[in-house]
Amino acid sequence: MASVPDDLRPHPVTGELFASPVPPGTGWPGDPADPATPVARSAAEVGRLARGADDVAELDARVSVCRACPRLVAWREAVATTGRRAAFADQPYWGRPGPGFGDPRPRVLVVGLAPAANGTNRTGRMFTGDRSGDWIYAALYRAGYASQPTSTSAADGLELRGARIVAAVRCAPPGNKPTPEERATCGQWLDRDLELVAPGLRSMLALGAIGWDAALASARRLGWAVPRPRPRFGHGAEAVLVTPAGHEVRLLGSYHVSQQNTFTGKLTEKMLDEVLARL
Ligand code: SF4
Repeated sequence: MASVPDDLRPHPVTGELFASPVPPGTGWPGDPADPATPVARSAAEVGRLARGADDVAELDARVSVCRACPRLVAWREAVATTGRRAAFADQPYWGRPGPGFGDPRPRVLVVGLAPAANGTNRTGRMFTGDRSGDWIYAALYRAGYASQPTSTSAADGLELRGARIVAAVRCAPPGNKPTPEERATCGQWLDRDLELVAPGLRSMLALGAIGWDAALASARRLGWAVPRPRPRFGHGAEAVLVTPAGHEVRLLGSYHVSQQNTFTGKLTEKMLDEVLARL
């Protein structure tokens, strides 16, 4: 029997063997990239590759192999190799940026903060495999956007209808704190996301102040009309943005679904459901 190299581990659902981080195009469920997907290695290259993506599938592929922020690349790969949580030590870690997930022609765009080190950075799907994901996908299911209430693995069959999830920053940051420079660099992926989905978009849900600020900053860079003074983030806050084509998109804010908020009762299921009902 052939021996299995030490650095390969079985995917917890499919059982296929993967290295950590997962090389593009090696069969990971939902991997949008292949070995020929172009890799951004600087802020300027993010801008060029984002603007050149013709649809969200191409955009997701390019995001998922990005290496433009040295600190975040080092962190996500360190977690994926030597820093795996003990409970997941027998699993391969995605160790790459979290690509957008969901309906490629959404009515609703959810903008989160950034992947979690042992969540998206492990599973390869936004908000998947951690407590934050338990909250947002259960709420999306209750509101009719998700095919099932849980998201545990990129191989679990979950589909979103009418909703797409992206983040202000696509790589897991140390301490959940991306730097202003990292936010600016990664914001260029968000700009293109917004631009591509804008024609059918009805509303955006910003999870937390960073998601709110990122959505407003992207809208401004794209030439959308944004109210003045600048709308302030709050749970239930709302602002109406207008695209250059004259199409209105409502931005709603919710406290982030992080454990800090859900464990303490700062954000309840009812509060989240009430905001989702307004999307
Ligand atoms: S944070 Fe964004 S821009 Fe920076 S490396 Fe990750 S995907 Fe690329």
